[in-house]
Amino acid sequence: GVVTRFAPSPTGFLHIGGARTALFNWLFSRHHGGKFLLRIEDTDRARSTDAAIEAILDGMRWLGLDWDGDAVFQFSRAARHAEVANELVAAGRAYRCYMTQEELAEARAAAERERRPFRLNSPWRDADPSSAPADKPFVVRIKAPREGETVIDDQVQGRVTVRNEELDDMVLLRSDGTPTYMLAVVVDDHDMGVTHVIRGDDHLNNAFRQLTIVKAMGWPEPVYAHIPLIHGSDGAKLSKRHGALGVEAYRDELGILPEALGNYLLRLGWGYGDAEIVSREQAIEWFDLANVGKSPSRFDLKKLENLNGHYIREAADQRLAGLVAERLAMPDPATRDLLARAMPVLKVRAANLNELADGARFLFAVRPLPMDEAATGLLGSDAPALLAAVHAALDAVESWDTEALEGAVRQVAEAQGVKLGQVAQPLRAALTGRKTSPGIFDVLVLLGRDESLARIADRTA
Ligand code: GLU
Repeated sequence: GVVTRFAPSPTGFLHIGGARTALFNWLFSRHHGGKFLLRIEDTDRARSTDAAIEAILDGMRWLGLDWDGDAVFQFSRAARHAEVANELVAAGRAYRCYMTQEELAEARAAAERERRPFRLNSPWRDADPSSAPADKPFVVRIKAPREGETVIDDQVQGRVTVRNEELDDMVLLRSDGTPTYMLAVVVDDHDMGVTHVIRGDDHLNNAFRQLTIVKAMGWPEPVYAHIPLIHGSDGAKLSKRHGALGVEAYRDELGILPEALGNYLLRLGWGYGDAEIVSREQAIEWFDLANVGKSPSRFDLKKLENLNGHYIREAADQRLAGLVAERLAMPDPATRDLLARAMPVLKVRAANLNELADGARFLFAVRPLPMDEAATGLLGSDAPALLAAVHAALDAVESWDTEALEGAVRQVAEAQGVKLGQVAQPLRAALTGRKTSPGIFDVLVLLGRDESLARIADRTA
């Protein structure tokens, strides 16, 4: 069966490029009924942090990218990596290289003098192991092939070929016995049974070197799929300046729903006809490496927000109420209840949870309401008299529902000889402190009789 993996280095947040890689691996394995594994590549001890590990796991859970089994921590497997390196030495496919720093520097300098590319040619590659010095430090190097070529039939990039003379005898074990990244990745992928390596195309060059180790061990070659990186709207590689944030920033700061970010990341580099809105179920059914584009895709925040608006309108009111209550730091059940009742009229316009929370603020405002500038503009000199008439009419309404309320306000407009809007606008300002809000009769119902009448009375003098 298919086994994929996501192998982040926990040196920072789960950024959106990583999240997309994880998503593609997850979808590919789910499409094939296979497994999706998680490996934390924490071998860079200086830069790996627990906070980054937490952020990655948290981001994946939030995006619904569940992994099978326990996460594998690469650093803990160092002894196994060394074991494989030593097996390769024993089999004559790797060697202990005793070259000193000075010798290496001299070899490099010689290449430079002769204006040829540096290609290490260690005297230890073919030396008789019995001639090895007893207690000098050494590194273990792979015996890279020197003739022929190495071919990768990449599922996204197509056939990619490298002449073997370009491959070097890379280090597998450092002189302190620790494994290199190249070795660790290959051993872990093999031991985890990974069949498909799907990752950013910044790793394509590594694939050739990793394949050298795979072949030396006689292990099955994984299928490779190197997906183009995400670029900013200006076409340059995505960076912080383009809004390349950690996924938690999309959640916390930008108020994006996970299903919207997931859908957006899916469409960023993968297409199925002209489908824009793709549910998780459809994505699992349709996902295929053949539909991953070859050229880098451009990140577009506007598009993400459009999708987010769609998913906000689709989302259950109770769920949105919980998220908005959290943002307003008002977790009590009464607040959530009111928010849930208001949600059908609040969510129609919002592109993110911040807008949703902002639009809900009037529900909890304390009298006398703060007025923003636009609302103040709606309360002209004739407003107090008009609002006094509205107050009297609403006070007389028997059943506090949109129909009765609309009837009452319309009657006031007619009696005053003005258009409905001329009454509705100052009324909106009095009730919400804003120039824009949900429909005014919905606002009245949500606030209730007492609070509505009190807010109006505040503006009648
Ligand atoms: N740890 C690597 C990274 O974060 C990924 C290695 C791989 O996928 O093979 O870029």
